[in-house]
Amino acid sequence: MGRPEVWMGCGVRLTLMKRGLEKKLFVTPPQPGFEGVPFQGGLLCPLTWNNALSLKTLFGQLSPRRLPPRPSFGFGDRLGLATPGHLRALEGTEVFPVLAQQSMRENARTGRTYADVLADAIFGAFQAGWTRGFGADADHLKSVEEARQAARLGYTFFTCDPSDFLVPVERLPIATLRQEAQEVPWAELERAYLGKDFPIPGLGELRFQKEELWCIAVKYWRALKFAEEMYRALRDELPQGFDFELSVDETLTPTTAKEHLFLALELQRRGIELTSLAPRFPGDMEKAVDYRGDLEEFRQALRVHKAIAQAFGPYRLSFHSGSDKWSLYPIIAAEMEGIWHIKTAGTSYLMALELLVRVAPALFREIFGLACTRFPTDRQSYHVRADPVELPSLQNLRDLELPTLLRIPAARQILHVTFGSVLQKYGEDLKRVLLEHEEEYHQALAEHLGKHLRALGVKGDV
Ligand SMILES: [Zn+2]
Repeated sequence: MGRPEVWMGCGVRLTLMKRGLEKKLFVTPPQPGFEGVPFQGGLLCPLTWNNALSLKTLFGQLSPRRLPPRPSFGFGDRLGLATPGHLRALEGTEVFPVLAQQSMRENARTGRTYADVLADAIFGAFQAGWTRGFGADADHLKSVEEARQAARLGYTFFTCDPSDFLVPVERLPIATLRQEAQEVPWAELERAYLGKDFPIPGLGELRFQKEELWCIAVKYWRALKFAEEMYRALRDELPQGFDFELSVDETLTPTTAKEHLFLALELQRRGIELTSLAPRFPGDMEKAVDYRGDLEEFRQALRVHKAIAQAFGPYRLSFHSGSDKWSLYPIIAAEMEGIWHIKTAGTSYLMALELLVRVAPALFREIFGLACTRFPTDRQSYHVRADPVELPSLQNLRDLELPTLLRIPAARQILHVTFGSVLQKYGEDLKRVLLEHEEEYHQALAEHLGKHLRALGVKGDV
């Protein structure tokens, strides 16, 4: 496995061993809390949640912690094998990693639990010899109960996704909107917002018109109530503090300055401290491909959101579907002064498939075939525009030509959103190949994600 995987301390020696294609933790002398079978004077322990807990009790550096005031990068890992490669990408940077970044939507499709995901991250950090700390992100939380569950397991970063409670004012008939509007305490809001200027340094003064306030309040009111409920529950669970992100990135229209301002003011009034906000940016942040949209418009939106985030937090802006957005990184680097959080997930899965193309092309062909069949169903709930018609037929491609297929945006997106179906059928086969070629996988991840960090101006050449 190449990297330090022996940790010693408190008179105990721990080694991550590969036994065939399975990894085990060898603990000697045997320690209370670890579960395993006796082996050469020690204990040979499977990589279970209980053993991950004991490991992080022994080495505090392996407990997730809150974000320091530095840029942060989210590394989603759908297979649970990528963490050492992710952490290697951070060599030569001060960027703080957020691991275990998976949503319920992803877990439902991969058949994992929050505990599985966190255990994989802990063992991955152990394998990498990582002692500089990391966060753990329970991503796109859609219920308070999920948030509580993740908090109890030791997650530190909670991404509240209120999209089920957002009212699409642009689309609904006026009668429905009137009904929604009954939820909102108008007298109170009008007193707080109308006839006033809200000065935002760097942006000027913002003022709400009555009709505009009506639309914004109706759109976000129930979402804010949900965020408040989740935040309070988390404060109960974690009185020592936690990172809280509000993500409104999966909406129909870009978040406007006044929408952001309204959210910031309402969150403040409710005592909610944000670590980050993920607004919906103009243009398209689709999965696995570069940004599609007007770069100047993106830059202007960034300035607006940054000014409001600075005035109210400061909190950082969070960029979802953040992988492979090559045209945006120089703009983020130039505008954000290192106050950003970027989330990636699918790209590490695609890297695994790229490896597969090279070392197990027959398996890749099967996977790609299944992905094309499943795409029309699996694409629902994902923001992609791929059309399988754009793709060359697989039979016409020789093995040597398969890597070019993975550079076609439509192919990347099809593979990106069908991971659940693919892993259900081929997950074990894929993992076996990755374990056989583990070092190669980690190195490829380190290079690809390192390239992201270099484009963001936070990584020198090492
Ligand atoms: Zn998102």
